[in-house]
Amino acid sequence: MVQVNADYLKLKAGYLFPEISRRIKDFSANNLAADLIRLGIGDVTEPLPMACREAMKLAIDEMGTEQGFRGYGPEQGYQWLREAISENDYVSHGCEIAPEEIFVSDGSKCDSSNILDILGKENKIAVTDPVYPVYVDTNVMAGRTGEANSKGEYKGLSYIPINSENGFEAQIPKERFDLIYLCFPNNPTGAVATKEQLASWVEYAKEKNSLILFDAAYEAFIKDDSIPHSIYEIKGARDCAIEFRSFSKNAGFTGTRCAFTVIPKSLKGKAGKQEIDLWSLWNRRQSTKFNGVSYIVQRGAEAAYSKEGKAQIKRLVNFYMDNAQIIKANLTSAGFEVFGAINAPYAWIKTPKNMSSWDFFDFLLEKANVVGTPGSGFGAAGEGYFRLSAFNSRENVEKAMERIVKL
Ligand SMILES: *Cc1c(COP(=O)(O)O)cnc(C)c1O
Repeated sequence: MVQVNADYLKLKAGYLFPEISRRIKDFSANNLAADLIRLGIGDVTEPLPMACREAMKLAIDEMGTEQGFRGYGPEQGYQWLREAISENDYVSHGCEIAPEEIFVSDGSKCDSSNILDILGKENKIAVTDPVYPVYVDTNVMAGRTGEANSKGEYKGLSYIPINSENGFEAQIPKERFDLIYLCFPNNPTGAVATKEQLASWVEYAKEKNSLILFDAAYEAFIKDDSIPHSIYEIKGARDCAIEFRSFSKNAGFTGTRCAFTVIPKSLKGKAGKQEIDLWSLWNRRQSTKFNGVSYIVQRGAEAAYSKEGKAQIKRLVNFYMDNAQIIKANLTSAGFEVFGAINAPYAWIKTPKNMSSWDFFDFLLEKANVVGTPGSGFGAAGEGYFRLSAFNSRENVEKAMERIVKL
């Protein structure tokens, strides 16, 4: 018989979202009339912006002509999209990121996992806790951890808590890590990192020769002008950080698929005593294992930077952030302690009366028919918290709040 990758067996069996589905299914089977409102999984709900749709329709028609047809595109993405990203997301914000340093992909989820391909196994790794589960599970799958303990913490990974005791600020560790995953605005807590905090991280990484993997999937939701949208707004970040960005949450591309990863050419790693630039390794990796994002979708992504595209995305983001505001205001007035939801589309709620995250999940499901996400599913330090997402219709958000406030 073939050998399997036994590292997969270390993964916690009850992965968050399948367990949520199981509980919903059980509940629904016994409560056929229940009108469930899902504020759980972080997926967008509003339709694609018109500018992106129109660009994709044109691209389809082009592909139907002799002159306009395109086969394989560049693995790194089309030059015009890389230029649009460089100009609109970086250069115009004072960050020196060249088009060549941008690698277009079909998702940040894949990129944040695939990046492990070009990094050595010996690296000491730190994640925040709670955390986007992908960072942890992909390290487990790649054999970079030991077994998990009863709280779900893996041997070989280090956890930096972010919770109400430290004001949802990831404290700079004393010890040295090679690789640190940071996500701001944060999923799941909705916390943001100030310029000073990010500068401390960059300073730490430069001093310790560490690499920061910075996930900025939610940068479009930042309302406060003083909060950085990119880690490259911090001087020196070009020498110590990779950034992941996605069109999923701002332009609603979760089902359309387009994202990008920034690898500055100045980033270095080592192989023995030799210095190697990460850009070349990633370029090699993508050229070998990836054949690019469809031309049609890249035209759709490019349209996100048109005048109309920007205005439509702004409206989408504002719509979700108004939902977030409604959630925060209602729950706060009902006596809940609510974090996030100001510069991020997630409200991070302290469970009442010290209920466990899963007990509160069941309580909301049964008493309000509202589905959220238990904080403990994002890591041990998420126990006692609960995430509600602002991605839903206004009607559903208002109805869900009415029901919860009445409890
Ligand atoms: C939604 C999300 C992404 C985006 O992933 P895609 O694969 O680009 O859809 C990335 N990081 C975090 C933390 C997310 O929540």
